[in-house]
Amino acid sequence: MPAEKPGPTVAFHGVTKSFGEAAPAVGDVTLEIAGGSFVALVGTSGSGKSTLLKTINRLVAPTAGHVMIEGADVADRPLPALRRGIGYVFQNVGLFPHLTVGDNIALPLRIAGRAMETRVDEMLDLVELPRDLARRMPAQLSGGQRQRVGVARALVAGPKLLLMDEPFGALDPVTRDSLGQAVRALHDRLGLTTIMVTHDMAEALLLATRVLVMQQGRIVADETPQHLLAGHGGDAAQALVAVPRTQAEQLAALAR
Ligand code: ADP
Ligand code: MG
Repeated sequence: MPAEKPGPTVAFHGVTKSFGEAAPAVGDVTLEIAGGSFVALVGTSGSGKSTLLKTINRLVAPTAGHVMIEGADVADRPLPALRRGIGYVFQNVGLFPHLTVGDNIALPLRIAGRAMETRVDEMLDLVELPRDLARRMPAQLSGGQRQRVGVARALVAGPKLLLMDEPFGALDPVTRDSLGQAVRALHDRLGLTTIMVTHDMAEALLLATRVLVMQQGRIVADETPQHLLAGHGGDAAQALVAVPRTQAEQLAALAR
C-alpha cells in the first residue's frame, strides 16, 4: 500500500560540474524527477553518474546550476538537515568495521541525538534480516547481508529520498537480483523517491520506472523501460539495451 505522501520531487536546473581543465564531468543537466518515482541513472564508467547523484546531497557542489528538492535549492539548506532527509547507499557500503551491525544502523540517529533501540529492530525487519544480527560485527556478515545493513542505515532516519550509487555492484548475480527486488518493494511500500546509479542496463530496466542514460556528462536518453525495450532512446541507450538482449537471445538459442 503506497504511503499517503510520496517522496519529494528532485529537479536539476542547468547543473554543471567541472574538475579543473578537463571536459565537464556533468554538463548542463536539466530535468525533473517526479515524487515517488524510481529512476535509474545508467551509463558507462566515467560518464558522470556519481558526480550528478552527489550534487543532490551536496557531496559535490555544482560549478553552475541548481539542484532543487521540492522546489527548494539544496544549497540553501543546512547540511545536517539536508542529509537527514536523504538516504545514501553506495558500493561497498562503508560500514564501520569496529561497530556492531546495530550501532552501524543507529549511527545516523545517534548523530541526530535521537533514541534508537526500537528503530534498529524495526530497520532489520524492514530489510528482512534477523534481529539478532544487530550484535554481530560487519565482518561476520555475507556481502548481501552487509548491503542490506547499508540500506537499513540509509533509511533509519526516515528519509523520503533514497540515493544509491551502484549499490549491488559487488554482489553475486543471485543476491543482486533478490536485493534489487527487495529495494524496489521497499521503495513502493515507503513511497520513496529513489535514484539509483548503475552501469547495468538489465538492472535498470527491471527495477526502475524511468531510465536516464548518461554519456560524457549529459543525459542522452530519458525513457521508460518499456520504451527502451521497444527501441527508443537513441544509439547510446540502445547500445546498452543490446547487452542484456543479446545475452537473453544467446541463452534462448542454447535452450532450443
Ligand atoms: P561515473 O560515476 O559515471 O563512473 P563519475 O561521475 O565518477 O563517473 O566521473 C565523471 C568524470 O569526472 C570522470 O572523468 C572522472 O574522472 C571525473 N571525476 C570525478 N570525480 C572527480 C574528482 N573528485 N576530481 C577530478 N575528477 C573527477
Ligand atoms: Mg560512479
